[in-house]
Amino acid sequence: MTTTDPVANLAALIRCPSVTPAEGGALSLLDTLLSPLGFAVERVMATEAGTPDVENLYARLGTEGPHLMFAGHTDVVPVGDEAAWSHPPFSADIAGGEMYGRGAVDMKGGIACAVAAVLDHLGQHGGQPKGSISFLITGDEEGIAVNGTPKLLKWTAERGEKFDHCILAEPSNQDELGDTIKIGRRGSLNGHLIVTGTQGHVAYPQRADNPIRALVTLITALQADPLDKGSAQFAPSHLEFTSVDVGNKTVNLIPGEARARFNIRFNDHHTLDSLKKLIEQRAAKAAGGKIKFTFQWEPSNAGVFVTKPGPFTDLVAAAVAEVTGRKPALSTTGGTSDARFITHHCPVVEFGLVGQTMHAVDERVPVAHLRALTTIYRKIIDRYFA
Ligand SMILES: [Zn+2]
Repeated sequence: MTTTDPVANLAALIRCPSVTPAEGGALSLLDTLLSPLGFAVERVMATEAGTPDVENLYARLGTEGPHLMFAGHTDVVPVGDEAAWSHPPFSADIAGGEMYGRGAVDMKGGIACAVAAVLDHLGQHGGQPKGSISFLITGDEEGIAVNGTPKLLKWTAERGEKFDHCILAEPSNQDELGDTIKIGRRGSLNGHLIVTGTQGHVAYPQRADNPIRALVTLITALQADPLDKGSAQFAPSHLEFTSVDVGNKTVNLIPGEARARFNIRFNDHHTLDSLKKLIEQRAAKAAGGKIKFTFQWEPSNAGVFVTKPGPFTDLVAAAVAEVTGRKPALSTTGGTSDARFITHHCPVVEFGLVGQTMHAVDERVPVAHLRALTTIYRKIIDRYFA
């Protein structure tokens, strides 16, 4: 196959049925593309009790800096209702100028383009970068993501690998190729608020203490004031209650306990710890010593992060603008991604395809987008090593 052709690369990748946690032949394919070019390819099996083993891949060419890493995942979500697809989900059929298949945009397409761009750059520069290029590819992003990027980064750190910059090839664009580069994400924190009262007969409320009333007071208080006003790169933090539970199956019983669950998407005014403290303080103030409550916080590895705009984001944005004619927004919106792990090792931006059909039936990508994204990556690489 022509490895500088992103369309051929993507077709081959889509035909690997790599639904998490199956490798499906996708990493082997990358191995066969990169090894002949001199990349040192390592297949890293990650294990954790109670979870399926997952294979990951790390491939590096060069030993010097600067070191540009392309990151991504070859695992895909299940196809859902296969009969609803107009082309089989692992066929890579092209129709109407679009290639169909699970993973077309999320995110085998991004990987296919990055591989094509890197190989094209190497072909024009005597097979060696003026520094190092690596691929950090996981097979566990769409699942619970414990055997993917975090373990692979730990493995590279133990080997003394150092990265200068990373491009995560996730589908970052909203509507048009070139509209969005993601430079960070809000953090995410899940909590439970538990109010304790005194259980009793509904006909004798004076002998009981209904925790529902107190829970309503605290819920109202926690939603009353904004958590902040937003920051240079982020929208205001937001707390949303997602469930209120008493679990009372009886009509004549005042319950002894009431619970509410909530999620907070937070910006760089907070850390996980400072945010917990803030919520606990606001609840304590509203309780005024009259309500018995506790918080239970779920463990979170989704802290807030941002790659501050600077020469690297400028370089990426300029390449995007040249190829697409669009000035990309530097965004911190959306759900979490593996960038939250990579940010602890080097500055990371996310730029890939348009995300509209990701995880959907008939996931597909315009062939023209594959060619344009490859050109964008190629320009980024050329300038990075100029
Ligand atoms: Zn993805």
